Amino acid sequence: MKPHGPIPPGFRADASHMLLIGGDRAEALADVSGDTPLFVYDSAMLTARVAEWRAAMPADVQLHYAMKANPYAPLLAFMVRLVDGFDVASGGELKAALASGMPAGDISFAGPGKRDRELEATITAGATLNLESVGEAERALSIAGHLGLTPSLAVRVNPDFDLKGSGMKMGGGAKPFGVDATEVPALVRRLIDAGADWQGFHIFAGSQALDAAAIADTQAQTVALAARLANEIGAMPPLVNLGGGMGVPYFPGDKPVDVIAVGAALAETLAARDPVLAKSHFAMELGRWLVAEAGVYLTRIVDRKTSHGETFLVTDGGLHHQLAASGNFGTVIRRNYPIAVAGAFGREPDETVSVVGCLCTPLDRLGDQVALPRADVGDLIAIFLAGAYGASASPATFLGQGPAREMLV
Ligand SMILES: *Cc1c(COP(=O)(O)O)cnc(C)c1O
Repeated sequence: MKPHGPIPPGFRADASHMLLIGGDRAEALADVSGDTPLFVYDSAMLTARVAEWRAAMPADVQLHYAMKANPYAPLLAFMVRLVDGFDVASGGELKAALASGMPAGDISFAGPGKRDRELEATITAGATLNLESVGEAERALSIAGHLGLTPSLAVRVNPDFDLKGSGMKMGGGAKPFGVDATEVPALVRRLIDAGADWQGFHIFAGSQALDAAAIADTQAQTVALAARLANEIGAMPPLVNLGGGMGVPYFPGDKPVDVIAVGAALAETLAARDPVLAKSHFAMELGRWLVAEAGVYLTRIVDRKTSHGETFLVTDGGLHHQLAASGNFGTVIRRNYPIAVAGAFGREPDETVSVVGCLCTPLDRLGDQVALPRADVGDLIAIFLAGAYGASASPATFLGQGPAREMLV
């Protein structure tokens, strides 16, 4: 038997042990959607998450949603009312963000390899470009010149530190992201001289960190770096985007981020900041932490079989929807995501089984030798923490099984 990650708090069952999502029975949600597999996102959990963040953070820090974590249109339309801005990473995401009703002035676009037509669409819409290189800055200035528009430009800084303990490092050393800190002052002066509307700095050092002290330390270094650069430039950055990095507990032994501690440390950091940043605004941009726990992936058991003494529950889902849960998205060692039998939620386990998908590859394993209550053909398996980097971060066309359904409740 191998352990699975902790089921997020807040999930309950009805008297018959059927998992409830947003107050609805999992089985009823599968019926309403018409088929499985299915991602269900609980809007009340999104609201609660944002409220938790706001209660912990200094009041004047803005919250941006990094929509690549989950770009499902109804979820975006819901998040518009909860957060202060969207961060997008492509022209396609820019379109989706604008369609959601988020004002263009509250949208920023970060990401390497922005094409000219993406720069043009951003400048035309009036959204902010987080510039990733000197070359990209020159292309943006030239496109804005042709359009006769004043571009909103921020500079993404490749910091000289990374986020300790983060699952994915986005800063420190040679990186495709951002402009090396040493080159930033000259670039910002160039933007200001060219008449651009300089929006400030974007500094994103890492992702999926659970240690509050490491996050707080990175934020303190980020604010210090912004101050150093601003002093060199001799101008106040209107916005310092501190990035995100707050992760969620996927695996056995993982503990949730102590958000209160992160907020208290950030309040101290901001209170003690260099006078050059006195009038600057600050923002955090979060993807995973905001939406992961609100999502559940429901997949139905199609076959139950034994092979060499091992029991397999074969489902209609798999890595084509849940690449991360299969252990093939940015993890080195495969570990089990939180998993349950939806119709026996909260019951004691009876047996050790492996839950696999319907793809003809040994990589397609959603639960490896997990202890679960007895489940049979037709029963639903629930995989938690499916709200971030699920449907849109999986190879949906692989093996032709088709996409999963999605639903916001
Ligand atoms: C992916 C990304 C995020 C979100 O990261 P999470 O770990 O999901 O919070 C934020 N900012 C940028 C620039 C990103 O690329």
